[in-house]
Amino acid sequence: MSGTGLAALEARLRRDLELLELPAKPWVPERRAEGQPVLDVAIVGAGMAGLAAAAALRLDGVERVQVLDRAPEGREGPWVTYARMETLRSPKGLAGPALGLPSLTFRAFFEAQHGAAAWDALGKIPRALWMDYLTWYRRAMALPVRNGVEVALIRPREDGLLALDLAGGESLLCRRVVLASGRDGLGSHFVPGMARGVDRRFWAHSREAINFAALRGKRVGVVGAGASAMDNAATALEAGAGALHLFVRRPALPRVNKFTGIGSQGVVHGFAALPDEWKWRFLHHAGAAQTPPPRDSTLRVSRHPQARLHLACPVTGLREAGGGIVVETPQGGFALDFLIFATGFRVALEERPELALLAPHIRLWRDRFPSPAGQESEELATSPDLAPDFSFQEKRPGECPALARVHAFNYPATLSHGKLTGDIPAISAGAQRLSRAIAAALFVEDREAHFERLVAYDTPELLGDEWPEREAAE
Ligand SMILES: Cc1cc2nc3c(=O)[nH]c(=O)nc-3n(C[C@H](O)[C@H](O)[C@H](O)COP(=O)(O)OP(=O)(O)OC[C@H]3O[C@@H](n4cnc5c(N)ncnc54)[C@H](O)[C@@H]3O)c2cc1C
Repeated sequence: MSGTGLAALEARLRRDLELLELPAKPWVPERRAEGQPVLDVAIVGAGMAGLAAAAALRLDGVERVQVLDRAPEGREGPWVTYARMETLRSPKGLAGPALGLPSLTFRAFFEAQHGAAAWDALGKIPRALWMDYLTWYRRAMALPVRNGVEVALIRPREDGLLALDLAGGESLLCRRVVLASGRDGLGSHFVPGMARGVDRRFWAHSREAINFAALRGKRVGVVGAGASAMDNAATALEAGAGALHLFVRRPALPRVNKFTGIGSQGVVHGFAALPDEWKWRFLHHAGAAQTPPPRDSTLRVSRHPQARLHLACPVTGLREAGGGIVVETPQGGFALDFLIFATGFRVALEERPELALLAPHIRLWRDRFPSPAGQESEELATSPDLAPDFSFQEKRPGECPALARVHAFNYPATLSHGKLTGDIPAISAGAQRLSRAIAAALFVEDREAHFERLVAYDTPELLGDEWPEREAAE
């Protein structure tokens, strides 16, 4: 690369795009309704998935796209909010959301600023740097993002459009909605019922803001065995927790990252084509084996002498006592000052205000596919049963046709589509599948307008003088 720094990288990116004749020229006919412009696609969420989707649509020539996020710029998603790991789990070299463009990779972003030697010396990606990369990605691709905007309600209209009511009163009209709303985008973080009734000053979920400084010298518990459990435990220990108890239901920590282990382009492109029972079988097996916490995160906890790992120790009860709490387990009660539930996320459509009008009609896997005996899974059963273009499908045909224009591009899409909608490795493949499906649907919907263009098109390629009259007559 001639020159250094991000300005030079951005120039190289522009050149790469020019060589590929990208972005494709805009082709979707403009629409207006009630004097208002209609967006081709509105994307809820400007995290990695929303940005990748917006960039893919832009490259495919879908021009009127708007990305909306309630978070301020640079604070979308978990990276600098509730993520508490030191580095990403993913290997640094993954192309992630780069959509096949070398100059759009994290590596190009990093090397442009720090050089190739620093890249070689880099272990894993510090999480705040990943956020910086996503912010640069958005700028480099000139993506149309509005921050500080909450989508309060998605409203199907009689004319086939969707209205997005924003908190604050504004309403946008669009033809398609993409929900790139994150891990909890179709529900919330999961807290076991036992926490209900226990004063909030005694517990939090790992998804929430936690005042770790206040845990100095305190007795802290963490429930769970995943990456978030370890990273929250480590953060509490580093903040000076006096004692740290990790409560793990299983008799041993999971050690093998199954699904990542078989990662391939076959899985990326083939999963969605599997018969239903095989989709279920793959994800049930991987889910039952569980994803281990990263080794770095685990060492970050175990190096503290006041950290205790309690295996085969499910939390069975929780109560307030003596100015603190008692965590009940088969191994006895533990008197603590604070408990962190690192218990993950769940689909709970009724908890998403923006889906209030759609939720009763959205078909889940359990509405169509009985859990195979011995492979029961609440997470799989409550996954949305998505169409090949990521759109929702109706529970009862005809009751909410608008669902065909609302696309779930977040983690719960995994059972229908494979891991293409959240994690870094295959996010580009997911964004391209989504974008191409939306492009196809828009073209088919606008077929009359495109046919009219075909009929009206009269720019000659031959000018009529190519074949001398003399020869034509012979
Ligand atoms: C702690 C943690 C660590 C992770 N580490 C890794 C890793 O190392 N490697 C890996 O591959 N994956 C990792 N993941 C998984 C995945 O990469 C992340 O969850 C990633 O953030 C997914 O991107 P996203 O765009 O789907 O969601 P998010 O980044 O969560 O973005 C969703 C956005 O939607 C916005 N939003 C939601 N609803 C609305 C609304 N109604 N109106 C307006 N805005 C809204 C939110 O504000 C948010 O910014 C991690 C996940 C977590 C939780």
